[in-house]
Amino acid sequence: MSIPTELLHHIDGKDVPSVGGETFGVGDPVFGEEYARCAAGQAADIDLAVAAARRAFTDGPWPGLPARERAATLVRIAEAIEARADVLARLESFDTGLPITQAKSQAHRAAENFRYFADVIVAQHEDAFLAGTRQVNYAIRQPAGVAGLITPWNTPFMLETWKLAPSLAAGCAVVLKPAEWSPLSASLLPSIMAEAGVPDGVFNLVHGIGEEAGAALVAHPDVPRLSFTGESATGQIIMRAAAEHLKEVSMELGGKSPCVVFADADLDRALDAAVFGVFSLNGERCTASSRVLVQREVYEEFVAALAARASAVRVGPPSDPATEVGALIHPEHHARVMEYVEIGKREARLVAGGGRPDGLPTGTYLAPTVFADVPPDARIFQEEIFGPVVCVTPFDTEEEAVALANATRYGLAGYVWTGDLARGHRVARAVQAGMVWVNSHNVRDLRTPFGGIKASGVGREGGAHSIDFYSDLRVVHVAVADLAAPRFGAP
Ligand code: NAD
Repeated sequence: MSIPTELLHHIDGKDVPSVGGETFGVGDPVFGEEYARCAAGQAADIDLAVAAARRAFTDGPWPGLPARERAATLVRIAEAIEARADVLARLESFDTGLPITQAKSQAHRAAENFRYFADVIVAQHEDAFLAGTRQVNYAIRQPAGVAGLITPWNTPFMLETWKLAPSLAAGCAVVLKPAEWSPLSASLLPSIMAEAGVPDGVFNLVHGIGEEAGAALVAHPDVPRLSFTGESATGQIIMRAAAEHLKEVSMELGGKSPCVVFADADLDRALDAAVFGVFSLNGERCTASSRVLVQREVYEEFVAALAARASAVRVGPPSDPATEVGALIHPEHHARVMEYVEIGKREARLVAGGGRPDGLPTGTYLAPTVFADVPPDARIFQEEIFGPVVCVTPFDTEEEAVALANATRYGLAGYVWTGDLARGHRVARAVQAGMVWVNSHNVRDLRTPFGGIKASGVGREGGAHSIDFYSDLRVVHVAVADLAAPRFGAP
């Protein structure tokens, strides 16, 4: 597989450089060596992309196609993705540092996104009511227009398709701005869209730096919907800018999710889930179970088991099929995570990792790291680290567990492990999070709404929620019997 050395925008069906010729360098995650120059979108490029999307939306067939036809196109997109599954996995692993075995699931998940939203759009019904005997009211959903999609560098292809599938299903035309640290897999999208028969201009891709291309997309007056996934701080900036045009925004933001382990839980399963929850995808996962709260009776035993398992996790080159934790996305991110590890050493008890894994003296590697006895006011307990680092904290009572679980600004996910199902339900209701798993790791049916509360997000994506976001709701009232208005001013 050859890695592209030049990455271009895709606007109105054509691969194009930036209007002013600006580019930025893209580095490999392990050593940061530049492997490609990528077009760096500026306001002028966003203007062209939005104009193309707008034309495709107002003059083209896409938004007016019967749902079943759009759905058929989405299914063809899914097939085109599956046909590229191997290439996609290798590009994604090369570009992000994800272990190749975990990158392999990304094509399947991305294809599922399209198949799923194809079903949703066909099944969607519109409401009609007979108001008394004289009037029929019905509600219709119409595609909202041009949707701006801004995505992060973790599992980039999956998250891009998680927004592309519903926005296209709803009939929007789109401008996608992928993350600058992981632009590679998005470069497969133009040929996928063309193969599936998506009309030119409906899908546009503008690469670039967040503060340039991303900010221009947010500020553009002809983009009424903005779906963003990324850091909470960026989300705040985007919401403020979007307020200028009263845009509707969907925000999927950061997390610091608790995994609460009660003494009566199946501790072996809880351990498997806690390890997987924080170290899979290199710990660069929004729903990572990065705070493990353990009931005091089993605390020391659980900490020891977690430390042993963390130390046994196989860290290695992303392309090695034996690797369980690969390289962090970027030397800058690696340095940031390492800074947290140093902070953690001052704030808590280090029981596993905390430095480079044996045999990997260079590159953006970090041995899976476990801190025990982490107090709730510690920075490593409060702040999203977004790497293979977990905090463990003891609790005595259910009440204390819930208080600790809720003691951060985030509210994305929560995990509860207990042998008492009534308690599982109780704690699931008490934990402040958009999604809670009881005696389960992060397994999700696409029909369920996805999103967070507090600093973890605004709105929900998934299922009908996504279609609602990308469409406008209109009610039409039609008189079916004589419905004379009061005759003001009549003689
Ligand atoms: P980030 O906020 O730095 O960047 C995300 C995207 O926003 C990138 O495309 C970036 O270029 C763009 N951007 C940056 N500044 C911008 C601006 N001023 N205007 C417009 N666009 C701008 O996030 P990241 O570091 O790429 O991703 C990691 C974060 O994403 C973590 O906090 C993680 O929890 C979060 N995340 C959340 C979910 C979720 O579903 N809740 C999923 C994955 C990742």
